[in-house]
Amino acid sequence: MSNERIVLAGFSVAGVETAIEVPSLKLVLDMGRCSRTAVNQPFVLVSHGHLDHAGALTQHASRRSMMKMPEPTYLVPGAIAGEVERLFDAAGTLDGQPIPRRVVAIEPGQTFALPGGRWLRPFPTFHRVASQGYTVWERRHRLRAEFQGTAGAALADLKRRGVEVDEPHDVALLSFTGDTRVEVLESVPELQQTETLVMETSFLDGRVSVEDARAMGHIHLDEVLDRRALLPRRDIVFCHVSARYGQAEIERIVAARLPDELRELVRVLV
Ligand SMILES: [Zn+2]
Ligand SMILES: [Zn+2]
Repeated sequence: MSNERIVLAGFSVAGVETAIEVPSLKLVLDMGRCSRTAVNQPFVLVSHGHLDHAGALTQHASRRSMMKMPEPTYLVPGAIAGEVERLFDAAGTLDGQPIPRRVVAIEPGQTFALPGGRWLRPFPTFHRVASQGYTVWERRHRLRAEFQGTAGAALADLKRRGVEVDEPHDVALLSFTGDTRVEVLESVPELQQTETLVMETSFLDGRVSVEDARAMGHIHLDEVLDRRALLPRRDIVFCHVSARYGQAEIERIVAARLPDELRELVRVLV
């Protein structure tokens, strides 16, 4: 496993705009604003309908159409798929031409195939409106336990004789929580294993109480610190920080509040 972190671009500010580009997977996590580079990604995973997450869907699709790019695919919670279609229809009427797009309603437990043999599955989250997160999966092969420590020449010989020395296993590459209360860390086991966890942490200190954060359907850093044992051990991306906090302030607070073992795993997308 390489220790290089997956490249992420874009922005995420609570209540303002969230659109996180993942160029290596050809996708964007939510579409609260459509940047010049987000247009290049053909898949958008929509966590919920709040407009700081879904307000630029029509812009993304219409710009791709204008640039003669293939029709994009939007994965959306089943509960809002009809409204998203109507949004595209209304935008097409305003624009004087239909907006080519593929809206896919998907629920936790269902699977959607991505390019490169990867796939994604939504998981339930806990927000004020219908919402879900997503994990992108990949199948890899590893040496079966009984052959650990076997010399290379002996392994090659086994393979020549048709012995299966490898076994497949599914790896959670990237998980995105969207907006949610912190319970998601307890209820979705794959979040403890995923290689990159992109999670909302809307509030970082006493300016907003844990109680108020929960009432709004969001995560407070206090709650994350209480559950540090549940966090994955490779790459954690905090996002969706409240606009109350400036960028330098965010970095200062996060650096000051995280224990050493977490500080090196965490990056913040603002
Ligand atoms: Zn939000
Ligand atoms: Zn929201």
